[in-house]
Amino acid sequence: MLPSRSGSFPLFRFAGVRVYLHWWWFLFAAIDLSVRTRAYTSFAWNVAEYLSLFGIVLLHEFGHALACRQTGGKADEIILWPLGGVAFVQPPPRPAAELWSIAAGPLVNVLLVPVILGFSWARGEFGWGLDSPDYRRFLSALFWINAGLLAFNLVPVYPLDGGQILRSILWFFVGRARSLRIAAISGAVGVVALAATLLVLQPQRWLFTLLITGFLGSHCLSGFRHSRQLQALERLPRHPGFTCPECRMSPPGGPLWRCAGCHQGFDPFSTGGVCPHCRTPRSVIPCPHCGTDHPASAWGLAPRRGADPRVIDV
Ligand SMILES: [Zn+2]
Ligand SMILES: [Zn+2]
Ligand SMILES: [Zn+2]
Repeated sequence: MLPSRSGSFPLFRFAGVRVYLHWWWFLFAAIDLSVRTRAYTSFAWNVAEYLSLFGIVLLHEFGHALACRQTGGKADEIILWPLGGVAFVQPPPRPAAELWSIAAGPLVNVLLVPVILGFSWARGEFGWGLDSPDYRRFLSALFWINAGLLAFNLVPVYPLDGGQILRSILWFFVGRARSLRIAAISGAVGVVALAATLLVLQPQRWLFTLLITGFLGSHCLSGFRHSRQLQALERLPRHPGFTCPECRMSPPGGPLWRCAGCHQGFDPFSTGGVCPHCRTPRSVIPCPHCGTDHPASAWGLAPRRGADPRVIDV
C-alpha cells in the first residue's frame, strides 16, 4: 500500500533527490482547508498553514534521504501523499547506517523547535514579522504541527520512525532478521492499540485513523515477510572467499541466481560465474543481502564462455 510514482507527479529535484506529489494530496488539502476555515480571519493563512505542514514533512523526509546518502546508501526519491511523506531509502545493511538514516528524520523536527520558537520570540520581543493576531496564531499552529509530527513519528511502533529506531538498536544484539521479526510482530500489536486510542480520542476522524493504521499494518505484514526471507538467507552457508563490494557480506551458497540462457537456478560462486547447465556466463550478479547489482569481475569472478565449472567449497 505504498504510494507509487504512477499516482504522483514530479515537483522538483534537489541534491539528486526527486520529489513527487501524490494526487490524493489535493483532495486531503481541500478537506483540511474547509474544516479549519474559522481558525484565521483570512483564508490565505489557512493556505500558508497547510503549505507549512507540507514544508515540515518535506524537510523531515530530506533528513532521512540525506542521512541515508551519507552512510553510502541509496535515496533518490521522496513521495508526498496525504498520510505524510515517504522517502525511499536503502541504507547499507548495517545497523548503524540504518539507525542514522531513520533517526535523522525526527531530528529535523527537533531542530525546527528552536527555529519556530525563535520566530515567536522575535515577534514578541522586537515586533519582527507581521503585527497581526493571525501571524501569532500561525506561529503557534506551526509549533504544534511540528511537535505533533515529532511525537507521532517517535511512537515506538514499527514502522513509525520510533519503532524503526528500536529495531535498528535491536539489530546490534539479535541480528538483522530477528530484529525485524520482533519489530514487525510487536508493531502489529502496537498498530491495533494505536487505532483503538485514536478512535477513542478522535472518533470523528475515524476514516483518517483507519487509513493510517491500515497503511502501518500493511507495513508490519511486509516487514514480517521480509524477516522470514532474511532468516532463510541467514541459514544458508556462505562463500567466505567472496565479499559484496557494497555491503561487505559474503554471498550465500545455493542455486539462487537464474541463468539468462537456460533459466535454471545456479550458484555462480561455485562455478566461476558460468552456468553449469548451458555454460552461459553471468555478467552481472546481484547481492542477495543488499540487492545491489555488481559485474562478475567486481566479485572477483572472471567468467569465460565455455569454461569448466570449478567448485569452490562453501
Ligand atoms: Zn520519518
Ligand atoms: Zn551486498
Ligand atoms: Zn544456463
